[in-house]
Amino acid sequence: MSSRPVVTRFAPSPTGFLHIGGARTALFNWLFARHHGGKFLLRIEDTDKARSTGEAIDAILDGMRWLGLDWDGHEYYQSQFWARHADIAHRMLESGAAYRCYMTPEELTGQREAAQRERRPFRIDSPWRDIAEEQAGKPFVIRIKAPREGETVIDDRVQGRVTVQNAEIDDFILLRSDGSPTYMLAVVVDDHDMGVTHVIRGDDHLNNAFRQLAIIRAMGWPEPVYAHVPLIHGPDGAKLSKRHGALGVDSYRDELGLLPEAVGNYLLRLGWGHGDDEIISREQAVQWFDLDHVGKSPSRFDFKKLENLNGHYIREADDGRLADLVATRLGLTDDQKPLLVEAMPELKPRANTLVQLADGAVFLFTTRPLDVDEGAASLLTTDSRALLAAAHGKLATLAEWDAASLEAAVREVAEAGGVKLGKLAQPLRAALTGRTTSPGIFDVLALLGREESLARIADQMEPNE
Ligand code: GLU
Repeated sequence: MSSRPVVTRFAPSPTGFLHIGGARTALFNWLFARHHGGKFLLRIEDTDKARSTGEAIDAILDGMRWLGLDWDGHEYYQSQFWARHADIAHRMLESGAAYRCYMTPEELTGQREAAQRERRPFRIDSPWRDIAEEQAGKPFVIRIKAPREGETVIDDRVQGRVTVQNAEIDDFILLRSDGSPTYMLAVVVDDHDMGVTHVIRGDDHLNNAFRQLAIIRAMGWPEPVYAHVPLIHGPDGAKLSKRHGALGVDSYRDELGLLPEAVGNYLLRLGWGHGDDEIISREQAVQWFDLDHVGKSPSRFDFKKLENLNGHYIREADDGRLADLVATRLGLTDDQKPLLVEAMPELKPRANTLVQLADGAVFLFTTRPLDVDEGAASLLTTDSRALLAAAHGKLATLAEWDAASLEAAVREVAEAGGVKLGKLAQPLRAALTGRTTSPGIFDVLALLGREESLARIADQMEPNE
C-alpha cells in the first residue's frame, strides 16, 4: 500500500449513458476512498470530442448522484488539460524517452501487411526511434521509446502478479500529428496531476496499464497501485452487452423501477464479498470494503436476484418516500398522496419494484366504472353478483367503517350465503379493484372508504350489458 493519502478516481468517457459496469467501477473507487478516509475524484474523459456529448455527461453525473456516489471537489474535464499533456510529451522528447516519428501512412501499412504475411504480431518498427534531429516542415507524431529488453511486472491487487515481455509493448503514440494527446498519455498525466494513488477499473484496461507504466517510469513519477476488476457478464456468461438489455443506470431507475440502495448493494456484491452477507448497508460497505475480496473471475448479472434484493429495500423504505416515487410514476396530485401513504404498508409487501408498486396502487385512484380485467371478470358470475348485493346491503348499514367492523360484516354475509369467506372475498376484490390480486379485502374496503366502496360494489351487482 502506498503511504500517500488515498486518492481514487472514476474516469468515464462520456459517449453514452452511465453503464452498469461503469457504475460498479465508480462504486468500488468511492468505497475504497471512503474506507481509507481519502479522496474520490471524477474525471470526465472527453478527449474524443466527436463522440462526447453534454447529454452523456449529464447522464453520468445524474446516475452517480442517484447512487449516492459523491465526488470530492469539482469534476475534471480531460480536454482542459491538453496543453499539459502536450507539454509532457515534449518533455519526454527532450529527455530522450520519446521521439518524433515521421513515418508515412504508406510505410505503416507496409509494415502491417508484412507482419500479416509473416503471421507475426504487428509491432511498429520506426526508423526514427534513434534519430533526434527534427525534419523541418514534415508532419510527425510523438512516440514513446518503449523499453525493448526485459519485462514489466504489475502486482495487481485483483489479478495478482502479471508479467509482460517488454518486446510486446510497441512504441505507441503519445501526441498525434495534429498535436492532440492520445488516451494513453492523457490518463497517465491526469492521474499523476490529480495525485491518484489507486487505479481501480475494469480489466479491459489491464493491457493499457503496461503502456501507461512505461510513461510513468519515463517521467520518474510514483506508480499507482493497480486493481483491475473483472467485467460483468450477462446471465448467459457472455460479456454484458446491449443484447442483455438494461445497460444504463437510468433504465434501472426509470424502466425497472429500482431503488438506488438496492442497485448499489447488488453491484457491490457483484464482484466483492464479505462472507455470506447479501444485505449490506452503505455504512457497512464503507467499513468493510477492501481490494482483497474482489473476485478474480467475472460475475454474472442476475436480474431476478437484483429484483428480489430491491423488494427487500422497498419493504425497508420509508412510506412517504415510496409514496412520492409512486405518485410521480402515476402522475398523482399532492392531495392524492396521503391515501397512498396510508396504503403503503399494505402495498409494499407485494412489490419488488416501483413498477409493481405503482401498478398495485392504481386501484386506489381509478375512477368508476372500473376497468375489470379478464381474470376478475370471470369471478363475477350470477351467484357471486348475488353475494355482492348481499354484501352491499350489509355494509351499507355499518355504523363504523373500520377494519374490524368490515371483517365481521363480510364474514357474516359469507356465512349467511353458505359460502366460505374466499367465495365472497374474490368477487369483492374484483368489484373493488378490477383485479384478482390486491391487498387484503378488509384493508381495501377501509382504504377506499364507505362511499367509494359501496359504489364500486353496486357497479358490479348487475351485469353491465
Ligand atoms: N475513460 C476510460 C473508459 O471509460 C477509463 C480510463 C481509466 O479508467 O483509466 O473506459
